[in-house]
Amino acid sequence: MAEKVGFIGLGIMGRPMAENLVKAGYDLVVHNRTREKAEDFASKTGAQAAKSPKEVAQNSEIIITMLPDSPDVEQVVSGEDGVLEGLGEGSLLVDMSTISPVVTEELARKVEEKGASMLDAPVSGGDVGAQQGTLSIMVGGSKEDFERARPLFDVMGGTVNHVGPTGAGQVTKAANQIVVALTIEAVSEALVLGAKGGVAPEKILDVLSGGLAGNKVMEVKREKFLSHTFDPGFRSELHHKDLGIALAAGREYGIALPVTAIVDQMLLAMQKKGWGGEDHSALLRVIEDLSQYEIG
Ligand code: NAP
Repeated sequence: MAEKVGFIGLGIMGRPMAENLVKAGYDLVVHNRTREKAEDFASKTGAQAAKSPKEVAQNSEIIITMLPDSPDVEQVVSGEDGVLEGLGEGSLLVDMSTISPVVTEELARKVEEKGASMLDAPVSGGDVGAQQGTLSIMVGGSKEDFERARPLFDVMGGTVNHVGPTGAGQVTKAANQIVVALTIEAVSEALVLGAKGGVAPEKILDVLSGGLAGNKVMEVKREKFLSHTFDPGFRSELHHKDLGIALAAGREYGIALPVTAIVDQMLLAMQKKGWGGEDHSALLRVIEDLSQYEIG
């Protein structure tokens, strides 16, 4: 019989991921800070809404968390009425949030003290990947735990990889976030330069897509760039959080990440401008602002 699954964090990503698990036949217990979201989900899917992470853990064998940042996962796992208080021996915690690998390792130790185990399994592919069940999932932890959670990963993801021991998933995700942020920044520079030089932005995207400069950011974020509508998607403040994780890891490992540091500062500036809640593709606005020129 399929294991009972708990799901905590029904936001932009968590809700569609949990919906796909229900559609695949899993029996879910869900929890969210804003209670109405969990109750709405439960009333529409037949899942059970729990009042705390502890209650989720008491009622499930595999517990998935999909929360914004490291302090949120720490609170949900080891805070009052947290997962650790309800975790049964042999249970498996699967954190799919993007958080610090250092925090991941600390939490994994606490989970192991309870006779349970933990995987870090952050994702890429955005809200569309979450809705379509095509996320790329990068998993750190034991191979055995990975195989146990694999049927769930196969429902939520299209590309599922075990990348190494505890924390390795988060390190891989940090690498991913460097490439995505720096690519958005590069495309933004190309668009503003091209448009000011008299070439239509859609032409820039069409032509660059056909050569070595082609990339997925130009495909997936095309409409947002061209229409200047930056509803998320992936909030720029979360991407700022992710580059912070990458820079901290770089410092710890003694690895130079010079351009990541610059884009990190641009993402910080976006928050100061009041654009922290906008999609990360709104990095375009920073280049426009610096250039005092908006693409047509
Ligand atoms: P989000 O929309 O902010 O969703 C987070 C959810 O977690 C919200 O529903 C929030 O509840 C809930 N939550 C926060 N603290 C909680 C707590 N203490 N107890 C219970 N629930 C709590 O964020 P998201 O975009 O889904 O991102 C989730 C994670 O996925 C982040 O780590 C992000 O970096 C990563 N990620 C996101 C994307 C993307 O495109 N969005 C792509 C890849 C990875 P409230 O309703 O109360 O706010």
